[in-house]
Amino acid sequence: MIQTKGYAAQNAHDTLAPWNFERREVGAHDIQIEILYCGVCHSDLAQINNEWFPGMFPMVPGHEIVGRVVKVGDHVKGFKTGDLAGVGTIVNSCGNCSHCEEGLEQYCKEGVVPTYNGIDKYGDFKPTFGGYSNTIVTKDAFAVHIPENLDLASTAPLLCAGITTYSPLKHWKIGAGHKVAVLGLGGLGHMAVKFAVALGAEVTILSTSPQKEADAKRLGAHHFVITKDAGQIEKVKGSFNFIIDTVAADHDFNFYLSLLDLDGVHICVGVPVEGIHLNGALGAFSLLGRRKSIVGSACGGIAETQEMLDFCAQHGIVADIELIDIKDIHSAYDRMLKGDIKYRFVIDMATL
Ligand code: NAP
Ligand code: ZN
Repeated sequence: MIQTKGYAAQNAHDTLAPWNFERREVGAHDIQIEILYCGVCHSDLAQINNEWFPGMFPMVPGHEIVGRVVKVGDHVKGFKTGDLAGVGTIVNSCGNCSHCEEGLEQYCKEGVVPTYNGIDKYGDFKPTFGGYSNTIVTKDAFAVHIPENLDLASTAPLLCAGITTYSPLKHWKIGAGHKVAVLGLGGLGHMAVKFAVALGAEVTILSTSPQKEADAKRLGAHHFVITKDAGQIEKVKGSFNFIIDTVAADHDFNFYLSLLDLDGVHICVGVPVEGIHLNGALGAFSLLGRRKSIVGSACGGIAETQEMLDFCAQHGIVADIELIDIKDIHSAYDRMLKGDIKYRFVIDMATL
């Protein structure tokens, strides 16, 4: 077994603290990565706090993992020692269902194995532990190559925030001629802005935080709208083709649906604990009046994650990050909850 150092919550709601654990030996189809950086996702906090479902503890969060390959299994062809590699939100799937065969492992019919807070039911049947740790052993088929020309720490968030916003933009073929609103300017939101701009869309940020306006232009957005300002909202009513909704808190979908134009699509990637809250009934006319839809999207498949990284290498896209010591993880969570984020925290694993 491989002795591993990490930060774990021993129980739901606990403060994370140093914890030593074991990872499996490198199997024939595995690679071992020395983790150099790991991004901090709102999902990490949600899962420590059992917001989605009762979690498995001890829990080592982290699914925005980048580092160097230090060992490869005998049958591994795609990676060699010294390569940069990344791991995102999933580490295994059945591999046989039609969704897996299409490269949509995230929608595996038998259920995916998350990078942490899950059991590797297609592997060793042990709990999975995430990237707030010094090393990870994973199947080569679930690792991706990190382009060498991108800043490594700023690349970590692409493994979740990046692919989770890139995937729906590609699926709904969003690009030139589309008016896209990005709801919530946090980790996912700022990546959605960068991708939508690179794909040629006209991008509006819908934010609750006036102080973020100064960054909107720098991120490439064309417009910035404060959602609490009725005057600003009136001007964008019925105007968007797509809303990419990254909000983790309770919010009123009827209100945002009113901002969509004909055939407009409200794409949920954020996970509010309260679910889809409609502040009363969803007026049927909110949808049928202009043939609108509400849809959802989860992270992305492995091939699409590689495609996204290559797209980033080509367009010079990385996340805007604040690099933190792992001991400061809880102040980072506190700031994230207040929306005080610019725009992703990344843990420097050298501080572990
Ligand atoms: P984050 O960095 O905290 O960003 C969320 C942003 O939402 C905040 O910065 C804030 O932006 C806005 N916001 C907060 N409270 C709000 C409210 N009450 N009403 C309207 N807007 C509000 O979080 P993140 O890491 O980007 O994650 C966002 C969500 O996506 C989380 O629920 C996470 O679990 C989920 N997620 C889903 C997937 C997936 O596969 N679908 C993958 C990763 C994460 P402003 O200050 O601009 O308002
Ligand atoms: Zn995430």
